[in-house]
Amino acid sequence: MLTSSFPVLKTTNSSDQTMQLGFLLAKQMEKGRKIICFFGDLGSGKTTFIKGLAKGLGIDSDTVFSPTFVLMNCYQGQRTLVHFDLYRLNGLEEFLAKGLEEHLYEEGIICIEWPERIKSLIAGKYIGVHIRHKSEDQREIVIREEG
Ligand code: ADP
Ligand code: MG
Repeated sequence: MLTSSFPVLKTTNSSDQTMQLGFLLAKQMEKGRKIICFFGDLGSGKTTFIKGLAKGLGIDSDTVFSPTFVLMNCYQGQRTLVHFDLYRLNGLEEFLAKGLEEHLYEEGIICIEWPERIKSLIAGKYIGVHIRHKSEDQREIVIREEG
């Protein structure tokens, strides 16, 4: 379903299909530290995608939830998964004051929902996952290399 070359454009018709896409992406991630930035409205399916990605790393997807209030969760699977949800972040100062920056540099897969909030800290290339809400159960998903 997913090829090793980007960009990828897929339409999914259920949350399971979106999870499957995340699962496949996890399977083809190169070793080392990698940042994946998620773009899309609330409820578009960013966390759903990340649940599938976690599963692909051997992490129980039922333990993955959006860290809306804590801003960051960290999971240990075959590789480390760091999951940021910065929707409620009040600015770069808060990010720095809470000591979250060091987690951006962890060896593993770093998923960031609402990366716009810390734009200046995201240096270099990353994978962008853009999710567009098309109808109740349908999403258009573009995955590409950016930065
Ligand atoms: P976000 O993290 O972007 O705010 P969530 O992943 O938390 O979004 O929520 C997406 C919601 O949409 C979930 O309730 C999920 O079950 C539902 N949904 C319906 N169809 C899809 C689909 N094709 N892909 C992803 N989620 C879907
Ligand atoms: Mg979310």
